[in-house]
Amino acid sequence: VSARPLFTFDDSFVRELEGLYLPWQAAEASAPRLLALNAALARELGADPAALDTPGGVGLLTGTALPEEATPVAQAYAGHQFGGYSPRLGDGRALLLGELIDAEGRRRDLHLKGSGRTPFARGGDGRAAVGPMLREYLVSEAMHALGIPTTRSLAVVATGDTVVRETLLPGAVLARVAASHLRVGTFQYAAATGDDALLRRLADYAIARHHPHAATAENPYLAFLAAVVEAQAALIARWMLVGFVHGVMNTDNMTISGETIDYGPCAFVDGLDRATVFSSIDHGGRYAYGNQPQIALWNLTRLAETLLRLLADEPEPAREAATAVLETYGTRYHAHFERGLRAKIGLPPDGELDDEGLGEDLIGLMEEQRVDFTATFRALSAAARGDAEPARAQFLDAAPLDAWLARWQAQFGWSSCDPHEAAAAMDRVNPVYIPRNHLVEEALSAATAGELEPFERLLGAVTQPFDERPGLERHAAPAPPGFGDSFQTFCGT
Ligand code: AMP
Ligand code: MG
Ligand code: MG
Repeated sequence: VSARPLFTFDDSFVRELEGLYLPWQAAEASAPRLLALNAALARELGADPAALDTPGGVGLLTGTALPEEATPVAQAYAGHQFGGYSPRLGDGRALLLGELIDAEGRRRDLHLKGSGRTPFARGGDGRAAVGPMLREYLVSEAMHALGIPTTRSLAVVATGDTVVRETLLPGAVLARVAASHLRVGTFQYAAATGDDALLRRLADYAIARHHPHAATAENPYLAFLAAVVEAQAALIARWMLVGFVHGVMNTDNMTISGETIDYGPCAFVDGLDRATVFSSIDHGGRYAYGNQPQIALWNLTRLAETLLRLLADEPEPAREAATAVLETYGTRYHAHFERGLRAKIGLPPDGELDDEGLGEDLIGLMEEQRVDFTATFRALSAAARGDAEPARAQFLDAAPLDAWLARWQAQFGWSSCDPHEAAAAMDRVNPVYIPRNHLVEEALSAATAGELEPFERLLGAVTQPFDERPGLERHAAPAPPGFGDSFQTFCGT
């Protein structure tokens, strides 16, 4: 036992929000083994990575050997799942261990997933399998490297226990780090209790922790709603700009902080198609790539409903005020998306140039021929440098692209910007490496069989997504023909 504690936990959530959790303990792991450890994140959280890679460290990362002051809890929340309301979801297989203050003074949750059944488990077994936990680790760290707000992954520990799914799988626990785990569903749960004091305490807590400027606004709860609307508009625009499909945008999977959360069935589009759906249970395509912006607004509307009683004494003024804020979502989303899209095609951020809808037109062409989203945007920097072949090679019929390239190049002619500088700037926003579905599947199958090298290699590629490196050609290449047609992802595994 080391003299210096690995982490010193705080528990503001537990102190301030009684009624929104149940104290609970993690299940024992029969033969825990560290599979992945995020050393840089550990340091950011004030822990020595080497100390986490010890029996004591692994005990902490599975929740089975916690410091005395820790108060692990399962958080309560409700949520709309595929549009249908469930009054009691909660952490069925997860625990909040506590909060850490990181190197920059930010309060962050340390949370486990796969740590055993809790009182919220309903029919679930409380377990998680190695493959899906490594998948969350990989994709969340890729998202972070892409500059997209997200929960982070600190570690994955194999438990040594077997998890029963369609087959028998090795079990694992993921240690996740988040700005908090407050969700739209947390507000739905608090509002449904009918206890306005609890709802107000939750809103005040969320304001203090995530959107402190709202506290001094004329109507703090309205300013809070606006802040969440803005954070989510910005987030969803970022997803759309990298071809990310979250896959399960239920209201319990939308954070108040604006971080991406819950990497169950997510995946990146290969050939661009707005109707892309990967999740095996999303039969109606509710959470398809192209639906994400409007689904976010639907979820934010559910958040606004929970806040009505705090917004004004009378229902009608409260409703009008909330509606006015929700109506800003479209403008906010489009502003973020347009700005990001201009950057992807190398144009300066603001309307100094009229880009004639160039970005939208390119997306239209890409969708017509279902070209690879990531590879095509990345190829634009070569085109700016004078070699259009990599971009043309993405298209079966390059003629429409040639016409587009001519219009695009004319923009550079009119503007003061240097094409080589623009190319370098494009290479800083258009990734070479994303967690491509075929590579993720290959890495996770190998890891499930005990071979971690493909996972580590892919992790290395996607956590430096903008720097093209030799030896990773396969990681930059689109999926082999036919791969994407039947590709499916799964929740709750
Ligand atoms: P998700 O769709 O991943 O956001 O999960 C929805 C709900 O199902 C949450 O309340 C989870 O805690 C719960 N859940 C998912 N998988 C399991 C499991 N294997 N055991 C217990 N609860 C689970
Ligand atoms: Mg979830
Ligand atoms: Mg999940």
